[in-house]
Amino acid sequence: RSKDAGGGVFHAYEPQLHLAAEERRVLEIALRNAVGNDEMHLQYQPVVDADSGKLTGFEALLRWTHPELGPVSPAKFVPLAEDARLIGPIGEWVLRAAIAEAARWETPVRVAVNVSPEQLHNPNFVSVVAQALNQSGLPPERLELEVTEGVFMRQGTVAVQVLEKILDLGIRLSLDDFGTGYSSLGYLSRTRFSSIKVDRSFVQAASRGAKEAIAIIRAVVALADSLGMATTAEGVETEEEHLMVRRLGCTKVQGYYFGRPLPAHEAHALTVPKTSAAAAA
Ligand code: C2E
Ligand code: MG
Ligand code: MG
Ligand code: MG
Repeated sequence: RSKDAGGGVFHAYEPQLHLAAEERRVLEIALRNAVGNDEMHLQYQPVVDADSGKLTGFEALLRWTHPELGPVSPAKFVPLAEDARLIGPIGEWVLRAAIAEAARWETPVRVAVNVSPEQLHNPNFVSVVAQALNQSGLPPERLELEVTEGVFMRQGTVAVQVLEKILDLGIRLSLDDFGTGYSSLGYLSRTRFSSIKVDRSFVQAASRGAKEAIAIIRAVVALADSLGMATTAEGVETEEEHLMVRRLGCTKVQGYYFGRPLPAHEAHALTVPKTSAAAAA
């Protein structure tokens, strides 16, 4: 291009910026039809009790396989879907699919579904959730919705009211990625979360011996305890990390050490009671 002749500065970064914008545009267009084209699926990551190691549920995690580009990370396409206002319909698909899947599990473990802030501002959100539960027969107490501190940022009172209705249906709430965003302890005390999820970044830093991260995990556990909430440590990758977060008082754990996000059939297999699995073998 003509600018290339001009000098070194543009060489350094303009092509990259251009690529990023182009990639964004391509992904955004493809995202519009991703659900309709059957390119989305869910994986299910085990969540276990920190003391007994018993399975308590799974977190549903969205996966997108673009026909040409292959798998695209949710860390990339979820924010894009949020910006492009596509997270509403995609999130609705996630809810229905996760709820329908959990209804088929053979032990009554929970399914946790991530919900973006914008979804809570859709006036139909509560009825969509209620309808999905009714259609599948999944009892509301087996559904957990994960929201981040971000839901309280814009029109926080709207979010609190919607979450109140969700709680009235008997659904559980957890506060995801706690400590990474805009934290308001006020909202934390006003909304009945069942569990606070301690972000992986704290677990990782604490396992490297960072005193501050250890202090923060302790403080979150104390706060959760006093509010009657559980604490889930995210991103536990080793036995040492498991022992550490358990020692710090976390009640539930999730991470590669206990299981990667699994295809639906593998998650299902983990819900088959041991005795009947043995009988079938
Ligand atoms: P999240 O809700 O905090 O989910 C946990 C993320 O940590 C997942 O990444 C999971 O695969 C990853 N993870 C779990 N254990 C470990 C571990 O031991 N080590 C490491 N390095 N990573 C671990 P994933 O699946 O890439 O999802 C990233 C984020 O995308 C999620 O973070 C969530 O914010 C968002 N997301 C995923 N699915 C959905 C969805 O259906 N709806 C919405 N709104 N957001 C979603
Ligand atoms: Mg989550
Ligand atoms: Mg999380
Ligand atoms: Mg996280």
